[in-house]
Amino acid sequence: MNQSLAGIAAHVDGPSAEASQPPTGHRRAEDRLNVRSSLAFFAVHLIPFLAIFTGVTRTALILAFVAFTTRMFFITAGYHRYFAHKTYRLNRVSQFVLAFGGTMAAQKGPLWWAAHHRNHHRFSDTERDVHSPKRGFWWSHVGWILCDKYNKADRTQIRDFASYPELRFIDRHDWIGPWTLGVICFAIGGWSGLLIGFFASTVVLWHVTFTVNSVAHVFGRRAYETDDTSRNTLLVALATGGEGWHNNHHRYPWSARQGFRWWQVDATYYVLRALSWVGIVRDLRPVPAAVIAEARVAKARRRASDTSP
Ligand SMILES: [Zn+2]
Ligand SMILES: [Zn+2]
Repeated sequence: MNQSLAGIAAHVDGPSAEASQPPTGHRRAEDRLNVRSSLAFFAVHLIPFLAIFTGVTRTALILAFVAFTTRMFFITAGYHRYFAHKTYRLNRVSQFVLAFGGTMAAQKGPLWWAAHHRNHHRFSDTERDVHSPKRGFWWSHVGWILCDKYNKADRTQIRDFASYPELRFIDRHDWIGPWTLGVICFAIGGWSGLLIGFFASTVVLWHVTFTVNSVAHVFGRRAYETDDTSRNTLLVALATGGEGWHNNHHRYPWSARQGFRWWQVDATYYVLRALSWVGIVRDLRPVPAAVIAEARVAKARRRASDTSP
């Protein structure tokens, strides 16, 4: 188990208590952080500083860039838009490649990730939302991940993908992905490759990914009056390859695209489109014109109320 790496790895063995539990006001007492996981998670942040002894090579920087961008794609296109929301179709081999690539990001397995994310959409910003910023910015950013209570995911939320034995395997052994990448980085770039190419890029990738749950629920504009706190945040969209259009996404999570307008940069979607041209990705689900029009109507209404005396 890759506890020392992520401090957050866990198995998905079955339904957790949280799914059957009614909303209560007593959750905070149960939401104590696991001290061991938290220390391990914090320690991983310090590992890249060992590069003061090894130096930072150009190869290590290239490895870090490639490891960041490809794993971000595996998380946004794979864990999020495919496993959590099924916004397009893949064959079984491509599905496994995406799942394995996602585990390399050290954010646990695809079933764990997608089940929790489906929960987030189902119960957005209510008592049962696992990472609502209403319970604190840092809780939504990282606290919930370090809490024992969420080590297991509710399998009932992800029955569709949990039926694949290869996905259950990679989910249970979610350490294989990060260790594989660590070894590759070391083989190519030596100690500097491991410390910067793997560890530093992993830490940055964690926090950039987590901004979707924290920053994109606190800062930014709301194109849609959804029942949650989601927002559209350009900086998060640029850093995550399109996930910052989070208010759009909460309004219509069934679309492969999260930048609904032409100027809403969505790099993940552009890559998915390119993959659809060569037949790897099929049936990309579009945003209905009515949903896009809704934002225009809401904007016109806001302007009218702003200018009225
Ligand atoms: Zn959200
Ligand atoms: Zn989502």
